[in-house]
Amino acid sequence: MGYTYTRAGGLCCDNCGTSGGVRKVPCPHGWCPSTALCKDCRTKLKPTMHTWHINCAANSAKATAASEDRLRKHAAGMPTLCSGLLTKDRSVVHALFEIGNTVIGYYMPRTDYDRRNDLPPYPTPDDFKAFTTLTPAPSSFNFADC
Ligand SMILES: [Zn+2]
Ligand SMILES: [Zn+2]
Repeated sequence: MGYTYTRAGGLCCDNCGTSGGVRKVPCPHGWCPSTALCKDCRTKLKPTMHTWHINCAANSAKATAASEDRLRKHAAGMPTLCSGLLTKDRSVVHALFEIGNTVIGYYMPRTDYDRRNDLPPYPTPDDFKAFTTLTPAPSSFNFADC
């Protein structure tokens, strides 16, 4: 969410658009962007404010768990998926896995790459090898290929 400013650089309230006395109210779970609110709106919206962030605690906890899981995998010597590029042959994805400063590339069928959403967050090559064949690929994308 982008903030709105007056021509003079004053922050505008996200709720009513006024400027002056507007403050950024942070998400109580540190998950979503702060909301800019004027004094009146802060008072008016306070009773319902917690409902805006109803999923933030869970989302934040999930993201923290996923990134801890990623670090645990790296510590155990397992690279994790960092990005994928659809190749010229659009049925194949060039996937990159990272561990520390090392990047490992594999080609895999797009339909198998698409199954990453069913895998745990930050899947490893072994997670994919359970249902597909990985073909060694360069450790960086060749954008001229796409
Ligand atoms: Zn307001
Ligand atoms: Zn929030």
